[in-house]
Amino acid sequence: MTCVTKEEIKEYAYKSGIDIVGFASPDCLFKYRDLLKDRYENGLNCNIEENDIEKRINPYILLEDVKSIVSIAVSYNIVYEADLPKSAYGTVSRTAWGIDYHKVLIDLLEKLRDFILSKCNDAKAVLLVDNNPLLERAIAYNAGIGFYGKNNMLINEKYGSYLFLGEMLLNIYFEPDKKVESKCGSCTRCLKACPGKALIGEYKIDANKCLSYATIKKGYLSDETIKKLGTRIYGCDTCQDVCPFNKTAKRVTKDEFIPRGLKPKHDLREILSLDKKKFQEVFGPTSASWRGKNTIIRNAIIASINSNDKNAIEPLKSLLSCENSYLRGYSAYALSILDGENSLPYIEKAYINEKDEAAKEFMKKAIMMIRGEVFEYNER
Ligand code: SF4
Ligand code: SF4
Repeated sequence: MTCVTKEEIKEYAYKSGIDIVGFASPDCLFKYRDLLKDRYENGLNCNIEENDIEKRINPYILLEDVKSIVSIAVSYNIVYEADLPKSAYGTVSRTAWGIDYHKVLIDLLEKLRDFILSKCNDAKAVLLVDNNPLLERAIAYNAGIGFYGKNNMLINEKYGSYLFLGEMLLNIYFEPDKKVESKCGSCTRCLKACPGKALIGEYKIDANKCLSYATIKKGYLSDETIKKLGTRIYGCDTCQDVCPFNKTAKRVTKDEFIPRGLKPKHDLREILSLDKKKFQEVFGPTSASWRGKNTIIRNAIIASINSNDKNAIEPLKSLLSCENSYLRGYSAYALSILDGENSLPYIEKAYINEKDEAAKEFMKKAIMMIRGEVFEYNER
């Protein structure tokens, strides 16, 4: 008889607002060693992923005497219809609607930990929400939270795949829950819909081609990626939006995830004109703020190109003299497309004053484009 049962933990978790709870063995990740090695060797991981495989599969590094992992999932499939603005807009992934989910899930995990501690004096717990390299989705899969879809997302039959995940490493043993095997069947909608062609096979993703990653990657992007990004300024939901499990998934009402300052389709002009204070006000409370203002503005410049937004011309002219070199370069490029010859004097002036080599090259290419010379530019 342990100090607390699985059923008691689950009951408390559901009452406190967690949608799905499962238990996994701390050893459940070791079997992914070869798979990770294969991904690294074939260049399928992106540069925000941890390269040290041990850190991705070994929870004993974080809690020496871990005996179980409690996996939690909270649905963000909220009841909310985003307005379609009259002006051009940038699209924000559902993961960044409302309050930063890291805070919401940590709060829930802390409550659950305190409940366990109230029953078990000697309990030790480590709480994790997307802030460590352990394979979060794999833990949830092994804890029976859901199955892997062909889009590599974790899908629960009742809640779909719009799920935030969190974990608690515990030094108390619980019998692991049963895994659920894929229910995708012959469906291939996500593979066909993926705009980045990142789903290179069933259950196989090339993270470097994923547009969600492109929206957070710093610096210059390839010409091809720029075209594919469309109006995305943070994240990509396409492979989940088309999934039939999300069409029938339970909708939830959670105030935390209702959009506030940052709208799901946010006015591009406002983003192009963001200063530090306004960025904090609009993006600060959301999970989209971590990559910083300049990456978001870069994406807004790209979205203004892809939506042929003439209202972006004036803010883009201001960005030609902003403090960030790649924003200056991108602005010149966007102006050459959106405003052509009208903007030529502004770009030429910026070019003369530019000290950064890469931005200068971009401006030169923008000038060449206006003058009718075609160019390709490379990923940096
Ligand atoms: Fe493709 Fe977007 Fe899904 Fe990435 S997030 S795999 S780009 S649909
Ligand atoms: Fe599976 Fe179809 Fe959903 Fe893709 S869209 S994850 S194949 S059910």
